[in-house]
Amino acid sequence: MDAPLHFSKGGLSTEQIPLENMIAPAVVIDITEFANSDRNYRLKLSDIEAFERIHGRIAAGSIVLVKTNWSRHWPDALAYFGDDTKGDASNLQFPGFGAEATRLLTDERKVAMIGIDTASIDFGKSKDFIAHRISAAQGVANLENLTNLAALPATGSLVIALPMKIEGGSGGPVRVVALVPRSL
Ligand SMILES: [Zn+2]
Repeated sequence: MDAPLHFSKGGLSTEQIPLENMIAPAVVIDITEFANSDRNYRLKLSDIEAFERIHGRIAAGSIVLVKTNWSRHWPDALAYFGDDTKGDASNLQFPGFGAEATRLLTDERKVAMIGIDTASIDFGKSKDFIAHRISAAQGVANLENLTNLAALPATGSLVIALPMKIEGGSGGPVRVVALVPRSL
């Protein structure tokens, strides 16, 4: 988890993130198909619009998880990061969030958190970390390196992501779980 402080001076640190942002209903936006054909794909406005046409407007306070199915590559570093040159992170290639989509989710939809099953909410080629800067400026924390998103329905699950309460922390490891309604 990245706390807003990670990319925003004066942003919330790990222990200040409200509980209701870390235990909240989740929606899962599936961009697996696009990521499979373009490993530098970034979540677009049209992906959110397509999701909302089917599932309705994303509610304020939701946790928005983007599914690329990238976690299937782990622990193959070359496949997961797009490059495995030691000490050089300048040639990474994996999908992430686009700037406009990040702005829509955090600024307009007022979501509680955003997350993805790749190494970063910013795509691998990013040099300006714009998705991080936008979410941090809106006080929204990020979840990265998620896995098992395929086990979640598009709507209806409850995510629980409680990091260690590090005072002044800019983020930290977090065990993320989701409760999924059982269909009897
Ligand atoms: Zn990050």
